[in-house]
Amino acid sequence: MVPISIQHVVKAFGKVRALDDVSVEIDRGELFFLLGPSGCGKTTLLRTIAGFYMPDAGRVCFGERDLTHVPPEARNTGMVFQNYALWPHMTVEANVEFGLRVRRVPRAERRRRVAEALDMVKMGQYARRKPNQLSGGQQQRIALARALVIRPQCLLLDEPLSNLDAKLRLDMRTEIRRLCKAADLTAVYVTHDQKEALSIADRMAVMFAGQIVQAGTPQALYRRPATPAVADFLGETNFVPGEIVEVSGETRAVRTALGILRAHGDAGGPRQGPCTLSVRPEAIVVGIDDATENRFAARVVQATYLGESVQVTLDASGTTLRATVPERAGGAGLADNGTVQCGIDARDVVVLNA
Ligand code: ATP
Repeated sequence: MVPISIQHVVKAFGKVRALDDVSVEIDRGELFFLLGPSGCGKTTLLRTIAGFYMPDAGRVCFGERDLTHVPPEARNTGMVFQNYALWPHMTVEANVEFGLRVRRVPRAERRRRVAEALDMVKMGQYARRKPNQLSGGQQQRIALARALVIRPQCLLLDEPLSNLDAKLRLDMRTEIRRLCKAADLTAVYVTHDQKEALSIADRMAVMFAGQIVQAGTPQALYRRPATPAVADFLGETNFVPGEIVEVSGETRAVRTALGILRAHGDAGGPRQGPCTLSVRPEAIVVGIDDATENRFAARVVQATYLGESVQVTLDASGTTLRATVPERAGGAGLADNGTVQCGIDARDVVVLNA
């Protein structure tokens, strides 16, 4: 339950700079996600926090304590891995108890804390089973109990749900958030699954090539990505090239193939010259009313019915756009090759470097 401070950390493996001057502050009790494509350095950062890797430069602090050169066993972190890493020859109970034995916790207290940890993950009735008598989801709950039972200063999770099927992943991610909040834990969670991060993170950092490109709340990163790569990584988006022609306070007017589009919001990104606009598919309003901003006409190239929504490919003056239209907002009525009037709220247009 400590804040974690990562300050200018560098870690190289041969010529590869797995971490290239990474700094981030993680608050006490926060569920913080590290997100990014394969090889971007997420696991290296997590292992550096755990103490398995010594950084080449920079500092790792838990609260006021500088732990940069402290070995992992003296950091009191709980780890949860993708492959559960349970001992197959031990019962569930013995697996969870192990960390307490190592710490020489007296027997009566060990029993009480194991029972408490198994209750937390709703696995009390499986105490006597061996791991191979449990499902994947149940094994991951035991791995969580084993991490929680030592009352760690922070919980570190490395792709904990990757081995589980889609439905179980959904259940387990809310469960992990519940457990972290109930135990008031500072937790760092590595994933390459943006939906997992967006759905349960308090804050998250997106990494590319050993660097944190942007950190913030899920909403801030999704709605206001700082670079085209972040916009693209966090979900589908349309990129429209343009040229900034006017700036007035928080509003920028951008000349594009669709006409002049206005972007309104915080003042990140360029304020003159060429740029790229990012517009999420759900931000394109198809079939507009008088109040709609940034209007343009488009031809429906293809409308794909998905039940709750319709995915529409549009051709707007030669620019291909993808729009997601709720079924109930008229999506079902869109026909291929029809012409539609479209619009985009200026707050949904994000101006990025070209
Ligand atoms: P993934 O999602 O695939 O697990 P990641 O973002 O966690 O990827 P890391 O495992 O941190 O990425 O690796 C970052 C870079 O460092 C990669 O280029 C990787 O090949 C390299 N790397 C990681 N660990 C080692 C190691 N022990 N020895 C050599 N190179 C390594």
